[in-house]
Amino acid sequence: MTRLHIDWTACEGRGACVELLPELLYRDEWGYPLAREKQPQVPPALEGHARRAVRDCPRLALRFVET
Ligand code: SF4
Repeated sequence: MTRLHIDWTACEGRGACVELLPELLYRDEWGYPLAREKQPQVPPALEGHARRAVRDCPRLALRFVET
């Protein structure tokens, strides 16, 4: 099972990841991404977008966690 992890110490909160993964993430009032679920699981249909979000995060604040 693949989950998405956000490193809050690195995130700069511009929300590019939210635009790629609105099914999993939304912006808080300051623009930081929040997961719609406590530990957002990446469904197979969203793996491509999730990989792009991880790859393109300017702060390397997103990563996959295999559980
Ligand atoms: S793309 Fe990276 S730095 Fe930007 S909001 Fe998402 S996790 Fe934070």
